[in-house]
Amino acid sequence: MTWRASVLTLFPAMFPGPLGTSLAGRALERAVWSLEARDIRAHATDRHRTVDDTPFGGGAGMVMRPDVLDAAIAACDDGRPVVYLTPRGRPLTQERVREFAAGPGVVLLCGRYEGIDERVIEARGLEEISIGDFVLSGGEPAALVLLDACVRLLPGVMGAAESADEESFAAGLLEYPHYTRPAEWHGKAVPDVLLSGHHGAVAAWRRAEAERITRERRPDLWARYLSDKPRNNRSGGVVASTPAAP
Ligand code: SAM
Repeated sequence: MTWRASVLTLFPAMFPGPLGTSLAGRALERAVWSLEARDIRAHATDRHRTVDDTPFGGGAGMVMRPDVLDAAIAACDDGRPVVYLTPRGRPLTQERVREFAAGPGVVLLCGRYEGIDERVIEARGLEEISIGDFVLSGGEPAALVLLDACVRLLPGVMGAAESADEESFAAGLLEYPHYTRPAEWHGKAVPDVLLSGHHGAVAAWRRAEAERITRERRPDLWARYLSDKPRNNRSGGVVASTPAAP
């Protein structure tokens, strides 16, 4: 069944954008997923097609109106998760991406200006998601990021050569370093173990590197990995094949 994405935006021309090329673009052509970019402005009711207004309480900028947004959401609300992309939301994780990809699809609401009226978030029970601790000028790039992360996990989108089991976060760790030909480049040699042909040694090296990189760069992931480690070890594999922590 086709995984369906609806994006509510003031700038529908921004879609599919980069998602029309490469893996996601080919999957779109094959109808593995569908994308509709819906113009929020089509739900404005006055003759100027107003979608925003000044904030109660004063302050800079404009706020998107709840009545217009509610009508836009109602037009495509069919049980799929409805997400408002906002720097105030919970950080997007690979775990949540996997859940979205396993479902029927998503409805994504892209804010602009100062953001959206709080009451529509409450009334519609919107899930608020952030793609990072920085502020974009609009939710559209965040929607593209979320969709890219989901679409690549849909069945048949990635080939066997691009398995999601062997990448960052799959086992609660960042990924180990990669090397390819030439075996020596600018005086830098590939680690000997990778040329040894000894699969067990390669797996152990990769796991140690994944642990080192995670410990150095992401103390938050490292702490969670350590608390989950007994379970990861029981499941037996190296980092590259250990199932994701729940
Ligand atoms: N006034 C808001 C604040 O301080 O949190 C920022 C509004 S921003 C200029 C306009 C829109 O961009 C937001 O409504 C949201 O949809 C989107 N946006 C900005 N940064 C984002 C992020 N890190 N993750 C997801 N969406 C973001």
